[in-house]
Amino acid sequence: MRHLIDSTDLSVAEIDRVLNLADDIIRDPAAYGDCCKGKILATLFYEPSTRTRLSFEAAMLRLGGSVEGFSSASTSSVSKGETVADTVRVVGSYADIIAMRHNKEGAPRVASMFSPVPVINAGDGGHQHPTQTLTDLLTIRSLKGRLSGFTVGMCGDLKYGRTVHSLVKALSRYEGVRFVFIAPEELKIPRHLIDEVLEPANIDYQEVATLEEAIGEVDALYMTRIQQERFLDKSEYERLKDVYRLDAEKMAMARADMIVLHPLPRVNEIAPEVDADPRAAYFKQVKYGMYVRMALILTLLGIKNQLAPVRTEEPDWVEEPPVCHNPACITTVENGLPQRFVYTDESHTHKKCFYCEHDA
Ligand code: ASP
Repeated sequence: MRHLIDSTDLSVAEIDRVLNLADDIIRDPAAYGDCCKGKILATLFYEPSTRTRLSFEAAMLRLGGSVEGFSSASTSSVSKGETVADTVRVVGSYADIIAMRHNKEGAPRVASMFSPVPVINAGDGGHQHPTQTLTDLLTIRSLKGRLSGFTVGMCGDLKYGRTVHSLVKALSRYEGVRFVFIAPEELKIPRHLIDEVLEPANIDYQEVATLEEAIGEVDALYMTRIQQERFLDKSEYERLKDVYRLDAEKMAMARADMIVLHPLPRVNEIAPEVDADPRAAYFKQVKYGMYVRMALILTLLGIKNQLAPVRTEEPDWVEEPPVCHNPACITTVENGLPQRFVYTDESHTHKKCFYCEHDA
């Protein structure tokens, strides 16, 4: 049985097969209309979501399956104090596959350790969002014809934006991908992604503060919203919320074949006038998201694209330091979970939390 918790849980070859299957579904959706007949997807959404939850539900319904679940923590047993482990053990007895969104980082990882059925991380706090990454990869591959040899600009909240973290990890495995990170000082890309992902793979990247500095050189521009709900200091959010705005004037500085992506929802970072520009790809991206989730469900259920039946290997962990310092880590609310840390380098000098990947 395989889960999708981190955007690199599937190998590059496996991702290719999922994207190829999505392409095939796009070509002939009717051929897949009964593939999940009799199967149930459980959507366990502890945190609000519109498009991801509906996208998962639409995907399962279009495959002929059914859906059950909840869309906020207050309407689930978590409000009675139930742990993630118990919830998935119970739900896994009813459903064939689970998609989980949680405001605590590492919660889907915990779910995968206890679930009798495949678990898909549908977004955990500011950590990861691997199915948005599959969506982004399918969009880029469909519109640019390749996933290698191009420059991606990532703009906005690179600190808390989980879609950015997942996409950086995934794209770093392709040949010749270069990143330009566009963020204010306070919202820069997390250091651990530079140290653990970009530097070891010798990936070319640049950090700049303004859109104007980067827009002319990127093949794809990935805009993101400033993640209001992740700020501990609300005044900082107020100060930063409108730091970037992509408008027609800035689009005029971009390449003619550049594409603009956004995981949505947008707030003020893309002016509505950009929507009519043929380079605006964010609404097309939404549709690709549904098709790639159909492909992923079929793959994890073993109906198409058989994957090797091994789960991602878990690294050896140590139990020091005593607690994870990330206030958003799942271990801060589930006291019974053993604290676990893994080394991030061969010399064993740095450790990170096994669940949320925060530096120890
Ligand atoms: N929908 C994306 C997410 O769930 C992006 C966002 O919320 O800004 O992370």
